[in-house]
Amino acid sequence: MTKIFHEAEVLAKRVLTPGMLRLTFGGEGLADFQSTGVGDEYVRLFFPNAETGRIHLPHIDENGRWSYPDGQKAVRYSTYTVRDYRSDLREIDVDFVVHDGGMASDWAQRCCAGDTVTINKPRALYAPPDDIVWQLLVADATGLPALARLLEQTPEHVQTRAFIEVAEPSHELDLPYHPHASVTWLHGSGNGVAASRVGEVVRALPLPPTPGYIWVAGEQRVVRSLRRYIRHDLRMPAERYELVGYWTEDARAWEERYDALPEAVRAAIAAGWDSGRDREVVRDEYYATLERFGL
Ligand SMILES: Cc1cc2nc3c(=O)[nH]c(=O)nc-3n(C[C@H](O)[C@H](O)[C@H](O)COP(=O)(O)OP(=O)(O)OC[C@H]3O[C@@H](n4cnc5c(N)ncnc54)[C@H](O)[C@@H]3O)c2cc1C
Repeated sequence: MTKIFHEAEVLAKRVLTPGMLRLTFGGEGLADFQSTGVGDEYVRLFFPNAETGRIHLPHIDENGRWSYPDGQKAVRYSTYTVRDYRSDLREIDVDFVVHDGGMASDWAQRCCAGDTVTINKPRALYAPPDDIVWQLLVADATGLPALARLLEQTPEHVQTRAFIEVAEPSHELDLPYHPHASVTWLHGSGNGVAASRVGEVVRALPLPPTPGYIWVAGEQRVVRSLRRYIRHDLRMPAERYELVGYWTEDARAWEERYDALPEAVRAAIAAGWDSGRDREVVRDEYYATLERFGL
């Protein structure tokens, strides 16, 4: 059975841009780390609970389902992309957006070589059909590490159009070269600094009629709005897109409002996810509920 949790030791810290820093992890704990090999693979970083001082871990079964022996609120984690995995050295790079008030972001800024963090087994979402000849990749700063690794691993024949939204021009990074990739940087929007512009940019883009794939990562409401366009206006089939909310702007207020939803509404949401019905149909209903309650 593959190991589910690993202790990762900080080996090095490097400032990539004023908005992002890279930690390199290694150590014995990563000896049996098994990468998925997929460009947007991610892990959870688990931190001690502020009240108990302990790291409470969820139980994760072989199908990836989580349960919480210590109670859900005790488990404290943040999700990050494995930007690079060097199996020969057993090293992982993780790129952290520097932002205010973040448990992981603060830890990444404070930590020193030799500090450790618990991470779990990686998972990935990017899964284009074999026939694609083009892809559209859209990300804000949090999706930039995954987008860079996806680009690095894109087969040569696939044409890539990428849009990356960052807070400032100085937050741009050099991306891996791909002979058939065209990248546009958007500055000064999204990322918690101003309204995102990716929605208007993607809506204005003509998409080829040939087989393709769309991957989007960013703030959850921005991604949700793009999903409406891609799924309901363009009517792209679910296997041709992966649209992932990576973070929530003003998360605490959002969570308070979510927790205040009527009990029956939260129960209906949970029942939807457990129903075994088409995930995208359930997601349509879930998003409609969120929007009904201004979330
Ligand atoms: C699959 C996946 C992969 C991800 N990969 C990466 C990655 O490689 N690098 C990366 O930096 N992030 C990545 N993220 C996003 C990251 O998990 C969130 O930004 C997360 O909230 C950061 O955790 P935190 O503990 O620092 O902040 P939290 O404690 O979760 O949040 C604290 C506060 O910070 C705000 N906040 C959170 N993120 C941001 C942000 N980016 N900009 C401005 N305000 C913010 C929240 O609204 C909240 O108010 C990924 C998310 C997912 C789902």
